[in-house]
Amino acid sequence: MRITRVGYQGRSYWADGDGERILLLDWELRKVAQVTAQEVQPLPLLNPGKIVCVGLNYYAHAREMNKEVPDEPLLFLKPGSAVIGPGQPIYLPAQSSQVHYEGELAVVMGRLCRDASESGAKGFVLGYTCANDVTARDLQTKDGLYARAKGFDTFCPLGPVIQTGIEALQDVGIKTTVDEEVVQSGRTSDMIASPMDLVSFISKIMTLHPGDVILTGTPPGVGPVQPGNEVCVEIEGIGRLSNPVRGRPA
Ligand code: MG
Repeated sequence: MRITRVGYQGRSYWADGDGERILLLDWELRKVAQVTAQEVQPLPLLNPGKIVCVGLNYYAHAREMNKEVPDEPLLFLKPGSAVIGPGQPIYLPAQSSQVHYEGELAVVMGRLCRDASESGAKGFVLGYTCANDVTARDLQTKDGLYARAKGFDTFCPLGPVIQTGIEALQDVGIKTTVDEEVVQSGRTSDMIASPMDLVSFISKIMTLHPGDVILTGTPPGVGPVQPGNEVCVEIEGIGRLSNPVRGRPA
């Protein structure tokens, strides 16, 4: 199922269907009601309480950054205020002269999750979507800490839909384009820690809540964006997330 978020009679629901018939679903993906497209309003796909990110989770990306492969996942957080949806602009901040795209697979949590095992983790997951872990690379190097470099408003595009019902996401293609030119092309089988290993690892540190998002790291090929670019993250079987890049608004 490919689900989006909609409003209906003052409440929000997951929604399946894009024609006349829309199924409204709860967090367990149980049918609540069937309505028409005219009766619902589109809502932002996700408003995560936290976005947990993993650095250096693809072997080839660790090599291009001249970094050792970490023996445990390296975690950092992005604020929920960084989230934008498909088609919304990424604004380049005045403080940075080197903003990079990082196309990533995102895991969306569906249930409260604490101390999950690797084999049990998938029971807590709602589905998958595309993400761009936009990064001010110069500030990442300068600060040594990631909160500023990864935390600017608009630095976390997510979407366009959540793909549910995927049993295991072992090996799918992930591709980033800038103005239609392919700049990143990898496969999730090159990940060091699998998505479910990450859910388990993170849930032993912090409780994951429904709607929380995990960004699973980027394949090789990270690079800069400029005002006027259109950056697009495409994941096989999941979707295509496209965002324009703009200078900081006056
Ligand atoms: Mg990243």
